[in-house]
Amino acid sequence: MTQIRMTTPLVEMDGDEMTRIIWADIKNELLLPYIDLKTEYYDLGLPYRDETGDSVTIAAAEAIKKYGVGVKCATITPNAQRVEEYKLKKMWKSPNGTIRAILDGTVFRAPLVVNCIKPSVRTWEAPITIARHAYGDIYRNTEYRVPGKGKAELVFTSENGKEWRETIYDFEGAGVIQGIHNKDKSIASFAHACFNYALDIKQDLWFSTKDTISKIYDHTFKDIMQEIYDAEYAQKFSIAGIEYFYTLIDDAVARVIRSRGGFIWACKNYDGDVMSDMVATAFGSLAMMTSVLVSPDGCFEYEAAHGTVTRHYYRHLKGEETSTNCMATLFAWTGALKKRGQLDKIPELVSFADMLEAASLATIEEGCMTKDLALITELTSPKVVNTRDFIIEIRKRLDQMLAQ
Ligand code: NAP
Ligand code: MG
Repeated sequence: MTQIRMTTPLVEMDGDEMTRIIWADIKNELLLPYIDLKTEYYDLGLPYRDETGDSVTIAAAEAIKKYGVGVKCATITPNAQRVEEYKLKKMWKSPNGTIRAILDGTVFRAPLVVNCIKPSVRTWEAPITIARHAYGDIYRNTEYRVPGKGKAELVFTSENGKEWRETIYDFEGAGVIQGIHNKDKSIASFAHACFNYALDIKQDLWFSTKDTISKIYDHTFKDIMQEIYDAEYAQKFSIAGIEYFYTLIDDAVARVIRSRGGFIWACKNYDGDVMSDMVATAFGSLAMMTSVLVSPDGCFEYEAAHGTVTRHYYRHLKGEETSTNCMATLFAWTGALKKRGQLDKIPELVSFADMLEAASLATIEEGCMTKDLALITELTSPKVVNTRDFIIEIRKRLDQMLAQ
């Protein structure tokens, strides 16, 4: 078989621990034999981040802005214990946080669905994608305890000195207060990212807030989404045969549970945080959750939703066998290759990535899987394989598919 040619490099961001091992195995077994893989490589593994004073992370984010598509391995976000373990110069920030700040993106998370793992919700047939607005609200809050009787006020002073003042509450005793914010600009870029993603994957977009209670704060989200939809997307949605639909979050929750799936659920920051874990768990496993960061100017960064699977890595270092699931990392690669293929008009690359996805899903559906899935499958006697053998099993099926 001749190798598939690429024209533009993918921004490849290597990572840490067990996922770094999986990363190399995926490349060697499932990509390099078939694709003349063109990547611009950035080593975001913790030792090299430390060596470069984390400038490698910034360089990688800039490269995504330049080329438009990146694929990232899971990375360690250092804490005090990691500083000790890796003898770090500094407790470097989360690479995902750094990249997100540069790309200003929205995170879309979707579960991988296989027929031998039944979602906890019986009606769900197709994946539900959560689109999480990853800026502001309680994640950038100011809060404190009120010691006792007194008046809490909300004050805004404009740059020319004009003041707005509202009483929050006349406290008769101790309690708590909190100040949160969001920006029209950030909400608008969230809106564009959601609408473009819906057009890209041709699925309906739902959006929910608590606008009946939060008549200004949440209502602003609702209004900005609607204005942008009417002005720039309504026609495109109609041509694509998809819908945008707003509903109160309570109603959304009830509808999601009754639904068949197969849509995007856009959520405010907190709702997205909570609902993505609910959706991932109800569909089966974190190891089967894909994640893509989409920036308002159309850049894409693909990754797995899980971390570096440290517990398995320590076992691996002791020479023990591991059974780590590579699916989310593999789908980060196929997602990025497909996007590159679409942008550069290389249909062979898109169909290869589709086939690789099909081969990996078939491997699981035929009963060959890693331990995490074996614990939750409907199949009575699954064949449990180790980390590397699972990749080899996928390759076998890929070769069969390519030979047909
Ligand atoms: P984790 O790596 O997601 O792993 C948590 C547990 O989930 C594992 O111990 C394992 O359970 C299970 N698991 C996760 N992925 C799996 C897979 N692919 N196959 C099989 N089982 C899987 O989270 P963590 O242990 O909390 O974090 C480890 C490191 O990852 C941390 O240093 C953190 O900073 C980093 N992290 C990075 C990202 C990112 O780069 N996007 C995200 C989250 C965390 P069992 O041990 O029970 O088998
Ligand atoms: Mg969370």
